[in-house]
Amino acid sequence: MCGMKLTYTNKVALVSGAGRGIGRAIALELAAAGCKILCTSKNPSSCGKVAEEIRSSGGEAEAYPFDVSNPAECKDACVKMLKDNESVDIIVNNAGITRDKLLMMMSDDDWESVISTNLSSCFYITRNLCRAMMFKRWGRIINLSSVSGLAGNVGQANYAAAKAGIIGFTKSLSRELAPRNITVNAIAPGYISTDMTAVLPESIKKAVLDAVPLKRQGEPQEIASLCAFLASDQASYITGQVLSVNGGMYM
Ligand code: NDP
Repeated sequence: MCGMKLTYTNKVALVSGAGRGIGRAIALELAAAGCKILCTSKNPSSCGKVAEEIRSSGGEAEAYPFDVSNPAECKDACVKMLKDNESVDIIVNNAGITRDKLLMMMSDDDWESVISTNLSSCFYITRNLCRAMMFKRWGRIINLSSVSGLAGNVGQANYAAAKAGIIGFTKSLSRELAPRNITVNAIAPGYISTDMTAVLPESIKKAVLDAVPLKRQGEPQEIASLCAFLASDQASYITGQVLSVNGGMYM
């Protein structure tokens, strides 16, 4: 980046799923860059610990535990966040789950829970926060999609549908919100080392790694670096994009 320093002037960033993995790395990165972080996760101790970690290293953070798949909980949490803070300038919709199964074995609950946690959550959170963002005429919305949303994946019809939905959501919103100087982008990670992928069977891990030209898993920090760039003042002319961070994996 030619020595360019990324800037974030008095920004407040909500990171969903900030308790672990990619969300935690994003929260720590944005906090180190000077943003105040609103850490959210389902489990209070999960986001609470990360908020504490940020505060103890001199940053600003608060924890807001809530279930992103529940529209009423999203609304209450967003109202509280807007009451406690002057604005929420950056939204990182990162919380997600998998319930991998072949279609014939997939239950209604496997489908509903993955769609609501990964996709509907982006709608619930963004809708509740974007009026204030529009009023301020500055904003960054970054949604976590996946290589599965771009290419599909055996055993992930629910997850791939949610992650592909996030791409449509991102592109539509980027057009709607552009006149208010709000950018909306998606990041599509490949195979990243987190709790989500740690549980995969060894045979699947090997098959996925074989498909990665860089021959290793990505680290959460490698997603956080791109997210921090997209959230910065310097990324002001990037919107409606899906950026892959996948070690060269075919999409
Ligand atoms: P992790 O499983 O490590 O962490 C998921 C986070 O989401 C946790 O903090 C969890 O909360 C939170 N979360 C899950 N369900 C809910 C819910 N209902 N309400 C509130 N918070 C919830 O996931 P990753 O870090 O691996 O993944 C982060 C994002 O990146 C996801 O959207 C995932 O789909 C996407 N991604 C990941 C890839 C990978 O290889 N890891 C590849 C492509 C995309 P809690 O801590 O309380 O449990």
